[in-house]
Amino acid sequence: MSGFYEALINNQSRFEALVKNSSDIIAIIDKQGIIIYESPAFEMILGYNPKDVVGLSGFSFVHPDDLEKAKQKFSEVVNNPEEEVKFELKLKSITEEWLDFELIASNYLEDPNIKGIIINYRDITESKKIKADLYNLAYFDSLTQLPNRKSFGEILITSIEEAQTSSQMLAVAIFDLDGFKFVNESAGDEIGDELLKKIVTRVKATINEGDVLARLSSDEFAILFKDIHNNSEVDELAYKVKDVFKEVFIVEGFELNITASIGISIYPYSGEDKVTLMKNADLAVTLAKRNGKNNFQLYDERLQLNSDKAFFLRNELRKAIINNEFILYYQPRINATTNEIVAAEALIRWQHPHLGLIRPDEFIPIAEETGLIIPLGEWVFKTVCEHKKKWIQSGLTPIKISLNFSVLQLLQKDLIKNIKKAINETQQDPHLIEIEITESLFLEENIIILENLKTLRKMGIHIAIDDFGTGYSSFSSLQKYKVDTIKIDRSFLKEIPKKSEWKEIVKAIIMLAHGLKMNIVAEGVEIEQQLKFLQTLNCHEVQGYYYSKPIDIIQFEELLHHKTIEPKIN
Ligand code: C2E
Ligand code: CA
Ligand code: CA
Repeated sequence: MSGFYEALINNQSRFEALVKNSSDIIAIIDKQGIIIYESPAFEMILGYNPKDVVGLSGFSFVHPDDLEKAKQKFSEVVNNPEEEVKFELKLKSITEEWLDFELIASNYLEDPNIKGIIINYRDITESKKIKADLYNLAYFDSLTQLPNRKSFGEILITSIEEAQTSSQMLAVAIFDLDGFKFVNESAGDEIGDELLKKIVTRVKATINEGDVLARLSSDEFAILFKDIHNNSEVDELAYKVKDVFKEVFIVEGFELNITASIGISIYPYSGEDKVTLMKNADLAVTLAKRNGKNNFQLYDERLQLNSDKAFFLRNELRKAIINNEFILYYQPRINATTNEIVAAEALIRWQHPHLGLIRPDEFIPIAEETGLIIPLGEWVFKTVCEHKKKWIQSGLTPIKISLNFSVLQLLQKDLIKNIKKAINETQQDPHLIEIEITESLFLEENIIILENLKTLRKMGIHIAIDDFGTGYSSFSSLQKYKVDTIKIDRSFLKEIPKKSEWKEIVKAIIMLAHGLKMNIVAEGVEIEQQLKFLQTLNCHEVQGYYYSKPIDIIQFEELLHHKTIEPKIN
C-alpha cells in the first residue's frame, strides 16, 4: 500500500488522473484531523469544492451522533501505523443532507512524502437504504408498520430466553377479527385497511411500552405481554384488548362494529418454546371462535385433549349416524303450581360402543362443524314423532315436546318438506311440537331462516327462544319473529337466591314475557328457593333437576302415566 500512495503523491498529475473519475473519495488529513487534501469525488458526492475545505477540521462534517466514534477510530489510526482501520460514518453534504460512508483509514504520518492520514471513503447511502428496505420488507407489515409474523417469532424467541434467566412469565395473545372479510367485501379494501390502522392505534394505546404488537396475517394480530406475574393479570390484559372493540369504529362515514376472538398461551405453562406457544394460542383462538366469537380463551392442557378428542369424535360421528348410536332423553317441563307435566324437552345422547354415553355439548359442535347436524336433526325430529305416536297408541294423553334446532338446520331449503313428511307419516298435532332455537339466529337476518320460521308457525308448530338472555336478541326481535315461548337461561337461575341483581333481571324478563303474552319457562331450577321465587313472579313453567334430570324413554313413559311429578326435597 505504502509504495502505491507514495508513487501517486510523488507524481501529482498521475495521482490527479487516477482519482479524478473514481467514485471513492480520497482524503489526506493531518494528525489533528485537519484536511490537507480531498479528491474531486468529494465535490461530486458532497458538493463542496475540495479547495474550499482544505484547512478545515474533518470532524466538522461528521454527524454529532458519530463524532465520538470518529474520534476514537481516528486515534486508533494515529496510534497504530501498521493497521488499516475500517468504519462507517454519516457526513454532511453541502445541501445539509446526511450521507452514509464506509471509510478505510491508513497512517502515513511517518512517510516524509505524505505526513498524514489517508482516508479512502465510499458513499453507501443507497445500498444502506436498500438493505433497510429489504429488512423492513422481511420484518414489518407495510400497512401498519407493525412487526410481521417472522419478526414476532424472533422477538418471542429472545423474550423466552430473557424470561428463562429472570424466571418471569410471558403471555402470547393472538387475536383474530370476527367478520373482517365481510367489511372488506361490503365496504371495500380501502375501508378495511383504514379500519385495521384504527384498530392498531387503539390496541397500541392499551398495551405497555415493552409489549409487542404484531400483524400475523390480514386479520390476525399478536401481542407479546412481558413481565407477567400471575393468571389474573393475563385476564385483565385480555379484557383490555377485548374492550378495544366495544366502541364502534368510524371510517369515512362507515360505522363499523367489529369484534375479536382472542386466544392466549402463557410461558412457561402452555409451552416453553416459540412453536408451542404460538400453536397453543392459535388453538385457543379456534375455541374462542367456536364459543361464539367476541371472547377470549386461555390455553390449558385440556384444550389439547379436547382437540385430539374432537378429531377422534369427528370420525366416530360419521359411523355413529350409520350405526344408529343415538338415543333421546326427555326432561319434563312442569307447571310449578300444580306439579303437572305440561311438556318435555327432547335431548340427544350418543351411546358410543366403547366410550359410553356422550353428552351433546361434546358432539353437537362437531356435528355442526361437519354438517352432520342435518341428518342428526332429521333423526331427532323423526324419532320424537315416532315416540309420540307410540304414546298416543298406548293411551297416554299427548303433551307438547320441544326439540333443539341448530342454525344450519333452519338454513336448509327442504327443511319444511322433511318436517311435513314426518308429521304426516305419524299423524302429529303440530301444536304439540315446539322448536327451540337460540337468539344468535336473529343476528343472521337470513331470508331462508325467516321463511322457514314463518312456514313452521303457519303449520302450527311453536317456536321457543332457548337460553334467553345470553345472546343479543331484544324484545322487539321477539315480536318481529313471532316467538311463542321464552326459556330463561339457567345461568340466571344459578345465582338465585344469592345475588339480588340477578333476581331483578329474571323478574324483568318474566314481566316483559307476560306483557308480550308469551309463554315463559325457567330452566335450571335446582332448589326450592328458586322455585319459590319464580312462583312469586307467576312463572309457572319450570324445568330443572329439582323436578327431574333428563331421563330415558322408559322412565319418562312412567312419568307420563302419573301426569304429575313431585319435586325432590333438598
Ligand atoms: P339446552 O337446550 O340448554 O338443554 C338444557 C340442558 O340443561 C340439558 O343439557 C339439561 O340436561 C341441562 N339441565 C336441565 N336442567 C338442569 C339443572 O337444573 N341444572 C343443570 N346444571 N343443568 C340442567 P344436555 O342434555 O347436556 O344438553 C346440552 C345442550 O346440547 C342443550 O342445551 C342443547 O343446546 C344441545 N342439544 C341437546 N340435544 C340436542 C339436539 O337434539 N339438537 C341440537 N341441535 N342440540 C341439542
Ligand atoms: Ca334447549
Ligand atoms: Ca337451554
